[in-house]
Amino acid sequence: MQHIYGPVSSRRLGLSLGVDMVPFKACNFDCIYCQLGRTTIQTEQRREWVSVDEVIDELKTTLSSDHKIDYLTFSGSGEPTLNSRLGEAIKTVKRFTSIPVAVLTNGALLRSAEVREELMESDLIVPSLDAASQRAFEKVNRPLPSIRIEEVIEGLNVFKKIYQGKVWLEIMLVNGVNDSPDELQRIKEAISRIAPHKVQLNTVVRPPSEAYALPITREEMDKVKVFLGRQCEVIARFSPREPTPLEHQQEKAIWEFLQRRPATVKDLANGLGLHPNEAIKFIRKLTDAGKIEAISFGDNRYYMPIKKKEK
Ligand code: SF4
Repeated sequence: MQHIYGPVSSRRLGLSLGVDMVPFKACNFDCIYCQLGRTTIQTEQRREWVSVDEVIDELKTTLSSDHKIDYLTFSGSGEPTLNSRLGEAIKTVKRFTSIPVAVLTNGALLRSAEVREELMESDLIVPSLDAASQRAFEKVNRPLPSIRIEEVIEGLNVFKKIYQGKVWLEIMLVNGVNDSPDELQRIKEAISRIAPHKVQLNTVVRPPSEAYALPITREEMDKVKVFLGRQCEVIARFSPREPTPLEHQQEKAIWEFLQRRPATVKDLANGLGLHPNEAIKFIRKLTDAGKIEAISFGDNRYYMPIKKKEK
């Protein structure tokens, strides 16, 4: 499977099957906290980045086996609204399954009436809103220069008024970047304009794209929650959860693969039948544990075990 990954267990969405609509990593933002690393294709061009027919075929195959899925979640290797056939994909999916459809998006393309229309048949949209001033927006999300936060907030506002599904707004707080009292006040005003069904607070609990993107503490998070109001909840997982038996197996497979030969994320994903996002998760874990290291060769980044020094 190239475009379908999981199912992954998530606190918010239960058992969620991921649907990836863009190549790794196409996005109109380059967030400093992005767990996928830096954006390699920064664009707002909407086109069929990956074949929707292929996505649908893979999805049908996956769903034909006996999975109990709570959500089909359009997210993955970048920004799903960049795929120009996203609306068609959602409509097609709704014709062959009753599983609810969620779209995780950075929300920037909700400035476009066409994109708002394409999302109408989904059941849940989880857009991000990490800043409400242009200055903080540029610092935390590093968007394409043409994207103005005021227009993004207005897009969310218009969308929420016409959309029949649920909107859960996610705010990622980065220490010293978008957590000042002034910025939080602006975010609060934007929330009251958009009126989402929920506001979900998160912080940098997974390895970020930039080492300087640091989390806020649990205490600070609780204060922000009280400040932003009642519909707000904390979704950051401050202590890591225990890996599942399947995750143990996948990590072991990656470790064994790398002991045979150095490999890129793509080699590992293709060789072990994993989605690149999953491969990255395990690579980060092995890197943090000091077991593997990366070396660059040409345009590629290879991972290999760290050799112990001979005494
Ligand atoms: S919007 Fe999402 S995918 Fe894009 S850079 Fe930010 S966190 Fe990464």
